[in-house]
Amino acid sequence: MDFHAPPSGPTAVAAPAAVVDSESSGPSGDEEVAVEVGVDEVLDPKPKKTLEEAESREHRMTHLPKNPHCEVCSKAKMQRKPKRSKSSKPSAAEEAKPQPTRFGEQVTGDHFIKGGRDEEEGPFFPCDTVAVVLYDRGTRYLAVYPKSAKNTADTIAAMQRFAGPKDKIQRFHSDNAPELTSAATALKWRLATATTGMPQTNGVAENCVRRCKEGGGCAIVQSGFNPKTFWPFAGEHFCFANNIAIVNGDSAWNKRHKKGRFKGMQFPFGALVDFMPQPDVRVESMGPKTLPGVFIGYHVNPGGEWSGDYLVADLAYFRENPDVVRSKVKIHRIKEAVPILDGKFVFPVAVWRHERLLKADNFDVPAEVEEVEPLDDVDLLDIDVPRPPGCSRDVLVA
Ligand SMILES: [Zn+2]
Repeated sequence: MDFHAPPSGPTAVAAPAAVVDSESSGPSGDEEVAVEVGVDEVLDPKPKKTLEEAESREHRMTHLPKNPHCEVCSKAKMQRKPKRSKSSKPSAAEEAKPQPTRFGEQVTGDHFIKGGRDEEEGPFFPCDTVAVVLYDRGTRYLAVYPKSAKNTADTIAAMQRFAGPKDKIQRFHSDNAPELTSAATALKWRLATATTGMPQTNGVAENCVRRCKEGGGCAIVQSGFNPKTFWPFAGEHFCFANNIAIVNGDSAWNKRHKKGRFKGMQFPFGALVDFMPQPDVRVESMGPKTLPGVFIGYHVNPGGEWSGDYLVADLAYFRENPDVVRSKVKIHRIKEAVPILDGKFVFPVAVWRHERLLKADNFDVPAEVEEVEPLDDVDLLDIDVPRPPGCSRDVLVA
């Protein structure tokens, strides 16, 4: 399997080319990296569901679309009957409206609710995690903000991370949950009223929640980490991966930031990496300068810009107990991470978890989802696809 080296050079070491310095990089300094998507990165809009595709980096970043050859997909993806909701069908007036194209034109918001609200809950979902899911329709930029409480202050904080100081949210759609409404009002996001509201948009917001749950669940299964305490990282990694993925020739990342494709290294959640710890971490002076770790995610600034830093958990903490909780694990924020084993991704914690399962150690391993008849293509690649005129749009599943 070929590992895609970063565009910065042929060496294996990631030298993040897109370290964003919000202080010094003015709008004029970014011209030379303007929108450019190489032909070689254009994924087939409908990736073939082969074993090779199941093992590819692209698939392991997001697990989209569901692949029958992928063990993670078949363990983690929900089995549910496709629902077609009347409310997801656009009205004639909606059809006539132009699709949003710029960031902030139309944003949807919804919450994960503690305990879930329907049959979608499964063993890989964070039953005690509350999160805000925000989605920009113009750019298809998706973000999840896990929080321990569902209140206005947390919701405002999430919205401020989603939209940076320079972003203007022109219209905000939600199911009118009070904390979403009051947070949006506090930030002067214009609320879509009942008359301008689009029934279809609620379906989109709900799809985003479902998409996050499913994507985060796949990341948890793939990594083998403790589901409850690592879910927030898993969900955030999924959204980040979803945004940088090239779909139909472009990424949400580029559409939002206008700086071309994502320039950093792409590591699947839970993948083994070598990393250079910060100077304050002591490494045996005679030994190697790097430590083994497992990839957790990307450090993101308010406004969705990548800081240039990666988040890696020290592997040592998982050796004794692969189910170790997040608070007991040291997480490093670092500039460089190197894939181990010649670019072939391995997920050591998942392997250890499996070994313990075989030894019948009594610890909390999520039960596997029973295999029932597979879903067909309701597992759409896009949450919200702008479709060519004349196409039916009722494939959105609420
Ligand atoms: Zn998969």
